Amino acid sequence: MTDYSIKRYGEYSDAEIVERLKAFAQNAGVAFVSSRSFSEATGIAEATVTNHFGSWKAFCESAGLAPRYQRSVSNQSLFENLDHVWQKLNRQPRAKEMKQPLSPISISRYQKEFQKPWHNICLEFLSWKSGASVAEIEREAQVQSVPSIKQPTHKTRREISLSLRYEVLKRDNFRCVKCGHSPATEARVQLHIDHVVPWANGGETVFTNLQCLCSECNLGKSNRHIG
Ligand SMILES: [Zn+2]
Repeated sequence: MTDYSIKRYGEYSDAEIVERLKAFAQNAGVAFVSSRSFSEATGIAEATVTNHFGSWKAFCESAGLAPRYQRSVSNQSLFENLDHVWQKLNRQPRAKEMKQPLSPISISRYQKEFQKPWHNICLEFLSWKSGASVAEIEREAQVQSVPSIKQPTHKTRREISLSLRYEVLKRDNFRCVKCGHSPATEARVQLHIDHVVPWANGGETVFTNLQCLCSECNLGKSNRHIG
């Protein structure tokens, strides 16, 4: 009885299979080919490829193709890149600044991935970094349409800009200053930006009067104030 895989193995040369893969990828206009779609289109089984090249990855690399599907870049790496740029500038980067040499990942990659305006991408980034919800950050950052919100008792507005929020998060090492919990190590931790001297008591929205508190410590603090 003939061993089917051996027969298959002898049927193609390495170069021939590589050429088939290149042609397939070119016709389909893709940078990645799955073993399944390749075998469906060509009748060459993955086992045959593995016999020749050792692995599907090695085979794809022989043809100059990506070994697996890479989602352009993941949100994680987009956020990490934004983090680097933000730290380099020491403020919220502008959309047009997201380009080489400052940012290895261009603004178009962000727009393609998120399909959102730059401001909203920054909101999502801060949410990812602090664990707080986008809605909360947005609410706190919103400059009210009524300019008179700036009360005579205050030099600053109640709202916390994204840049200021990031500065405070960074100074406090993205941890709650009371209990030390961090969203980087515990997924459920949400960091809020708290006025040390409460806004209602005349506290200003300035770097030195702001701190990172997790939801629990923040709640504890407001309870004490109510009591
Ligand atoms: Zn805490």
